[in-house]
Amino acid sequence: MPIKLVVCDMDNTLYPWIDFIVPAVEAMVDSVCLTTGFPRIKVVQSLKAVYAKYESNEYPYARQESSLYAEFPEFKSFDKLVIQPARAAFAEARRKYLRPFRTVVDTLTELKRRNILVVALTDAPRNPAEYRARKMELDGLLTALYTLPGFQFPASPEGEKLIAPDILYRDERGDYRAACPVIELPREHEKPNGAGLREVLRAYGVRPAEAVMVGDSLRKDIAVAKEVGAVDCWAEYGTYASVEYRERLDIISANAITQRHAASVFEGDRQKAEARPTHTFSNFSQVLDVVDAGR
Ligand SMILES: [Mg+2]
Repeated sequence: MPIKLVVCDMDNTLYPWIDFIVPAVEAMVDSVCLTTGFPRIKVVQSLKAVYAKYESNEYPYARQESSLYAEFPEFKSFDKLVIQPARAAFAEARRKYLRPFRTVVDTLTELKRRNILVVALTDAPRNPAEYRARKMELDGLLTALYTLPGFQFPASPEGEKLIAPDILYRDERGDYRAACPVIELPREHEKPNGAGLREVLRAYGVRPAEAVMVGDSLRKDIAVAKEVGAVDCWAEYGTYASVEYRERLDIISANAITQRHAASVFEGDRQKAEARPTHTFSNFSQVLDVVDAGR
């Protein structure tokens, strides 16, 4: 059957999430240690607590919501002296290390040329997913982006927005918006729930057998594709992370969060044997072969 739609996971499928999140969070932690004089263990643990609450270590307002802020009760100076340098350190590392896997841009360009719909379906919250799509200029190549619900801006109990005015301004101006439509799915649609993929198929009027699903997680992406009846393609290339990076990730990222963004980190030979993916990719461009073959 001709393939009309490619659905792809984002983290560790379109770009290596671990390769940028580890240095970016570490750079941010270093900055907070420097500006507050607090020991690293205190900074790491208090930020991790906020990340765990929001189930993401990209919750962008972690510094002002953490227990660190409680020791500096005035927002403006905390913002200027602690948050802004931390943001800059995170952004600098992200700029260096966040980039698509080889062949991703060329392959998405080719799929677009062939008028094949390409929808990204991610378990990341809207804000970081949309930001990354825009930053790597993938948003112009995607038909749409389906995410989990975005974060709200933090506020004090009195209702004061705990956010730098420039962020608020840029958000209102739409600077963080992707070029493609971005749809927030309900929280319960997190994979391996198949509801997200079914919603995408319904939205574009595509039958399951006319859709290809590419993702690095056997437990999430491959399971969902098989349940719904789409052609499943395992992005095995996205599952390789060095022992060193895994250890560093473990220090800065709660397990629940790693599970959400990089579930494949915890998947071993047993899952591989049980999941039996139909296609196994050593790079993203192999999706073109599956589209050509139609199955
Ligand atoms: Mg993934």
